[in-house]
Amino acid sequence: MRIHNCHTHIFTNRCVPDHFLKFGLYRLFSNDSFTRPLGRFINTVTSGSCNDIFDQYTAFANIGNFRSQEAIFDFLARHYPKGTVFAVLSIDMEYMGAGKCQVSFEKQLEELADIRKIHGDTIRPFICADPRRPAIADLVKRYIEEEGFAGVKLYPALGFYPFDERLYDLYSYCQNHAIPVMTHCSAIGIHFNYPVTREMLVHPKTGAQLRKRKKAAFAEVYSHPENYAYVLDRFPELKLCFSHLGGSKEWHAYLATRWDETQPVSWLKVITDLIRNDRYPNLYGDIAYVVNDPTLMNLLKALLGDRLLRSRILLGTDFYIAEKDISERAHSIDIRGGLSPDDYRQIAEANPMCFLSTRY
Ligand SMILES: [Zn+2]
Repeated sequence: MRIHNCHTHIFTNRCVPDHFLKFGLYRLFSNDSFTRPLGRFINTVTSGSCNDIFDQYTAFANIGNFRSQEAIFDFLARHYPKGTVFAVLSIDMEYMGAGKCQVSFEKQLEELADIRKIHGDTIRPFICADPRRPAIADLVKRYIEEEGFAGVKLYPALGFYPFDERLYDLYSYCQNHAIPVMTHCSAIGIHFNYPVTREMLVHPKTGAQLRKRKKAAFAEVYSHPENYAYVLDRFPELKLCFSHLGGSKEWHAYLATRWDETQPVSWLKVITDLIRNDRYPNLYGDIAYVVNDPTLMNLLKALLGDRLLRSRILLGTDFYIAEKDISERAHSIDIRGGLSPDDYRQIAEANPMCFLSTRY
């Protein structure tokens, strides 16, 4: 079996804007000369365990501090059998209102193209598409046709709706060539960093007045899976993966709710209903940063028991974001050990091969 991990990241801290985390904590944690002595001190006064939360967090931040994306890719690959395929998702953080990135998005892409030249098909880079970037469709086409990129990544929580019409040329191109689109669909994650304005409080499709809320909560309006009904109505055969299948919070909400109209509908239910809709034959979901919570493994097994969903769920670990909680080796072994060999082969090989195959 050739394992395919469909959701990983290898961007360095230099691709991340200055104000990514409040008070620059991210940069502080990713600075060795700060974390080493502090870690030693904390481990001395606490249990001394090498697996405490602080160590995990610094492990995460220090990976981002590696000298290059290639060094991070090498580190990732060493956790898996030789020949494992990794979908690597780039990220464009230049429009989220968090300051300047030391390494521009275009430079991040050039580095990925260089890594692909060295590592061939074991790395499948996805180009992040933000509708606010001028001529985004042309940039995507160039990287797919000339640099062998595998697909497109969307991150609406950075401040746009997936039905933004500046993305429609791109969707049309992706639908025509069966190019996979991977979208962040979780209420958890990074989000835009500018004030919520009065204009933002009017829903662009329905005209409804939206409730004023903080940035992190408002970002959920952009990420909500119902937004894709507008996209799929126009591009029903788009090959689209809902990353995180709504995220662990929504998986827990799914477990906690009854089939009852008085209950809010979990994002997981919205997504699985879309996947089951036979008008949309090319929808997928990945399990990145979800089953690192072991209490959700049984729900994954139940989803894989459904004949249709079984063919649409993809293995993904969200390396190195999940490193905050668990090492990549432990995480990947927990997934493999938690599933039957058939189920594992389905999500790690059969489904990813369909998802990643294009008509080129
Ligand atoms: Zn991710």
